Amino acid sequence: VGGGHAGAELAHSLRKEGFEGRVVLASDEPHVPYQKPPLSKDYLKGGGGEPLLLKAEALYAKMGIELKLGARIAEIDRSGRSVRFEDGESLVYDHLVLATGARNRRPPVPGLDDPAVMELRGLDHCRMILSRAPDLEHVAVVGAGFIGLEMAAFLRGAGKAVDVVEMAGRVMARAVSEPVSDYFLALHRRMGTDIHLNTGVTGVRHEGARAMVDLSDGGALEAGAVLIAAGVVPNVELAREAGLEVGDGIVVDEMLLTSDPAISAIGDCAFFPSPYAGTSVRLESVQNANDQARAVAKRLTGNPAPYTNLPWFWSNQGPARLQIAGLSTGYDETVLRGLPADDKFSVFLYRQGRLIAVESVNASGDHMAARRLIEKGVAVPPEAAADPSTDLKAMAMA
Ligand code: FAD
Repeated sequence: VGGGHAGAELAHSLRKEGFEGRVVLASDEPHVPYQKPPLSKDYLKGGGGEPLLLKAEALYAKMGIELKLGARIAEIDRSGRSVRFEDGESLVYDHLVLATGARNRRPPVPGLDDPAVMELRGLDHCRMILSRAPDLEHVAVVGAGFIGLEMAAFLRGAGKAVDVVEMAGRVMARAVSEPVSDYFLALHRRMGTDIHLNTGVTGVRHEGARAMVDLSDGGALEAGAVLIAAGVVPNVELAREAGLEVGDGIVVDEMLLTSDPAISAIGDCAFFPSPYAGTSVRLESVQNANDQARAVAKRLTGNPAPYTNLPWFWSNQGPARLQIAGLSTGYDETVLRGLPADDKFSVFLYRQGRLIAVESVNASGDHMAARRLIEKGVAVPPEAAADPSTDLKAMAMA
């Protein structure tokens, strides 16, 4: 269920692993499964057109994958092992995989639910933004997370005035350490974006082609459009209505199985135990969607193993490429390698002396080495991490 990164990868991985039974991939979107990251990056900058597909359209038929587009699954009948599509058709399954992803969160603020408020999650949203962009001079972005900041960079690049309003005291606060937040705050300000920290949106008033955005500090912004980028909520309703256990996502075990052994959940919607976090987490990344899909394909074809892949992530904002290896949950020490002033550096994050995550800015070499170092559990003394002459790659290969 769900033709995003996780669902599409699962269907193809099942074939790669030799599964010969019937595979049906149901997506409620009308589009052949496409890549989401370019929607806030190159696709947007390129002005639209055809999206980058996850797999060529012809490959579905060639691999014997039944791709059902514009087909929303409305209900799961667990006792009958079947799903019902919105149009009434039903389908029996031996195994069901929920790859329903997530949708944008709309905080309960008056006016933020107005259809004129723009958002970005899928291709249709992106095309809507592109169609409105030529007429916009000033955009207010709500939320300084990855998507909000990538959009701010794009809009500034297109010559728009941009304000970003963020409740937290720093940008990307949930995801990165302070030195990286500080670097990106300065970068976006240099690019000309006005970032308002510790500030909430208390209301949006739509007046013709203008939007008045009321702020918690008593101020107001007048913009041509508002873009909401305040995080996502996992699509768990189907699972919940079927009586499956749900927390911050659909609860699965280390094999990615839900509380029903005939149903798995993967990708943005799955709340899974991570050995890197030491607790259950829900991750929103392409790596997580792909690797969980491959793990389930292996399990369903007779090669079960607990899911333990190292999380990694990237985000492009203007001239800066941010890459993250590992999970920073509970870090208690940060070590800087390189200098933010050089626009090329990494932050090594430790928990009780153990390297748990590395955030790199324009430092892909550090990122690639960090992925191996953390995966293998190599001890990296903080002094060695900080010393630019330390050959991290050699340490990782040893
Ligand atoms: P999704 O890709 O969201 O797919 C879920 C699909 O299921 C959707 O098509 C949904 O409509 C469909 N669906 C839901 N319910 C049903 C139903 N009942 N019946 C049928 N279909 C249903 N990650 C990175 O690692 N790096 C990046 O740079 C990055 N950039 C991003 C930029 C943007 C603009 C966005 C939106 C995301 C970005 N991400 C990035 C995150 C990444 O795209 C997601 O983590 C990934 O798409 C998750 O895959 P998924 O298959 O779990 O969910």
